[in-house]
Amino acid sequence: MKCLVLGSAAGGGFPQWNCGCRHCALARAGDPRAKPRTQVSVAVSADGESWLLVGASPDLRQQILENPAMAPRRLRDSPIAGVVLVSADIDGIAGLLVLREQQAFRIFAPASTLRILEENRLFASLDPALVERVAIEAGVPVETGFGLTLTLLEMPGKVPLYHEDRSLAVAQAAVTYAARVEGGGRTAIVAPACAAVTDRVLETLRGADVLFFDGTLFTDDEMIEAGLGQKTGRRMGHVSVAGPEGALARLAAFPGRKIFVHINNSNPMLLEDSEERAVVERAGFEVGYDGMSVELG
Ligand SMILES: [Zn+2]
Repeated sequence: MKCLVLGSAAGGGFPQWNCGCRHCALARAGDPRAKPRTQVSVAVSADGESWLLVGASPDLRQQILENPAMAPRRLRDSPIAGVVLVSADIDGIAGLLVLREQQAFRIFAPASTLRILEENRLFASLDPALVERVAIEAGVPVETGFGLTLTLLEMPGKVPLYHEDRSLAVAQAAVTYAARVEGGGRTAIVAPACAAVTDRVLETLRGADVLFFDGTLFTDDEMIEAGLGQKTGRRMGHVSVAGPEGALARLAAFPGRKIFVHINNSNPMLLEDSEERAVVERAGFEVGYDGMSVELG
């Protein structure tokens, strides 16, 4: 099984188009310590031929161009055989619009997300006669048809931003999803959003050889501290990397490879010479980057 990180940043990417923070400025200037990153998506394949995308990033066109494994092999063709939608946020579905040139593939998603696609006429550009919609349910494994078994996993989360009731000060708790992908006796889990690493989450993640996990913020209030916004990580539905309830502490005993993705541009671990990066690596975690390839033999 192969995993390819197509995009490792949170919504907005790195640098973010309208952000002049120190991190984004370094990335924009081409500083080697601050590698630019596109919005999150991880591709998984059993044979290196047919790929399942976990998440349809708004940067999908760029991601396809930058990764030879995603290039067509014939006159009209794509190795992208399927897309699983784990988030109904814009950064999780907008990339579908890039895949609209009369190409057959399958969309796997919970019924609630398929309904959002149905209600928005833009997505009708993906002809249902060519692009099959497959409704999947959390905890129920499905065969993708190209050598991978896919299971949707429930994660604690919040409702998509555009569906929020803006008058509420606290996040509207809702289920978000991760994807467990199995092939060739190996298992990868992609969990770009998780509001808290509960005991139930730890149980859900058990047995994976590699875990791509929510690395949005290093500390819960870093966006407020940096003057970038008023929301804490908790408010956005993302557990922080550091802290007693953070991912480093709660996933310490997880035995597989642990790779952070969905990294926000405010997160200091993006900078390769930062103390925070050193802390993460000393704890046995990796900071994902675009083009990162993980082979599970
Ligand atoms: Zn920034």
